[in-house]
Amino acid sequence: MNDNLYALLASRFPADRSAPCLLLADGAVITYGDLETGVGRLAALLKAKGVEAGDRVAVQAPKTPQSLMLYLATLKVGAIFLPLNTAYTEAEVRYFLDDAEPKLFVTDAVALADEARGLAPTLDIHPAAAGDLAAIIYTSGTTGRSKGAMLSHGNLASNALALHRAWGFRPGDVLLHALPIFHVHGLFIALHCILLNGGPTIWLARFDDDEVLAWLPKATVMMGVPTFYTRLLANPGFTREAAAHMRVFICGSAPLLESTFAEFEARTGQRILERYGMSEAAIITTNPLEGERVAGSVGYPLPGVELRIGGGEPAGTTGVIEIRGPSVFSGYWRNPQKTAEDFTADGFFITGDVGRQDPDGRVWISGRAKDLIISGGYNVYPKEIELILDELPGVGESAVIGCPHPDFGEAVVAVIVGQGDEGEIIGAARRSLAAYKAPKKVFFVADLPRNAMGKVQKNLLRDRFKATFEG
Ligand code: AMP
Repeated sequence: MNDNLYALLASRFPADRSAPCLLLADGAVITYGDLETGVGRLAALLKAKGVEAGDRVAVQAPKTPQSLMLYLATLKVGAIFLPLNTAYTEAEVRYFLDDAEPKLFVTDAVALADEARGLAPTLDIHPAAAGDLAAIIYTSGTTGRSKGAMLSHGNLASNALALHRAWGFRPGDVLLHALPIFHVHGLFIALHCILLNGGPTIWLARFDDDEVLAWLPKATVMMGVPTFYTRLLANPGFTREAAAHMRVFICGSAPLLESTFAEFEARTGQRILERYGMSEAAIITTNPLEGERVAGSVGYPLPGVELRIGGGEPAGTTGVIEIRGPSVFSGYWRNPQKTAEDFTADGFFITGDVGRQDPDGRVWISGRAKDLIISGGYNVYPKEIELILDELPGVGESAVIGCPHPDFGEAVVAVIVGQGDEGEIIGAARRSLAAYKAPKKVFFVADLPRNAMGKVQKNLLRDRFKATFEG
């Protein structure tokens, strides 16, 4: 049996290869036949360039159908795909290339596909074992230096199959895809589901709310980061009718504000389905398709995923989330030390996310372990305070950080998008929270710094406000 992920995906392509695979913004259509031929030709070109099984193919290229074909061609020849954020600078890219030593570095997938045009498509799919590497994903690194998470064909295939089932993919589904494809969310989660379904994808180069609105009547499933949904809600054209054709809106990569969840439901009558995942394990938990989708909760572990808190604390205890299961990566590329640090002796990956689990299994995330503030010896979880602040009048959203403090070690600082009175905000927080959790200082800003996937970069905020309590 061939455990190559491409073999699994290709086995689900529609028998009629003239069926649409990608619907492009300009009206052009790439059929499954076109995809298969393009992948076969690129696979032939990779081989001609000396790329062999186990070699890395690094790609920092715009989102085009050809870059998707290149991903699949890399799988097909048994090489390891290494996508890089298009925003990375030359110096950043150099670090990844030095670390991963790819055989090939591609910046223009369209030119590569042109070069492959005259070649006979490779029909063979490299016989991969489930444990062979399919991809290395460098973590987006909101703290510290980026590490390469090694994902195998088996890791990705098991997650794709579990999600296809959990989210109820069915004949007729059309995926609206406006995510970047240099990250797990757009590349693996979204595309594997729809390729397993043999269905069409509305392929948008980037998220533009007006463009998404224009395509929504043709789509049934959308996957996005929270920012997509706040931007849609800011567009008056996003109405109940505009969303009526959609079967499900899925959200993840960063926490979805409860206010966004509520506003979305009020506007469309639909509840966003929030899920939780990471480069190291793809999707870990999801709210149910049928059943309660609860604001602020990331739902239940996917079938096959074992999840526990802090080595096995009782239900309801807040601590670091640990996971084990078929989608969990095997380690960090050429970094056995970091790999050893991040796994427990019994093989659970220590995610670094802090959360709790209800007795029925439902999971709630309260932040990152690294974001934990220790003020005067007390542990303070920023999320708890952010939830209170976000409800206050004039507050769009908030980020709570710890800043060095001569007396408390760290003191709680709130950075708020919006306007208001510092004293009133601190007073309101004190009414709901223990005094040590209330911010000692409030800053008002126009925007919070975010990375490409919409995650707030608290490390930048900590750096910016680190001198708050000096002298
Ligand atoms: P990445 O590896 O770039 O996908 O980032 C993974 C991290 O994103 C996780 O460890 C979480 O901290 C965060 N994350 C992903 N989905 C969610 C979610 N639904 N709610 C809260 N945090 C999330």
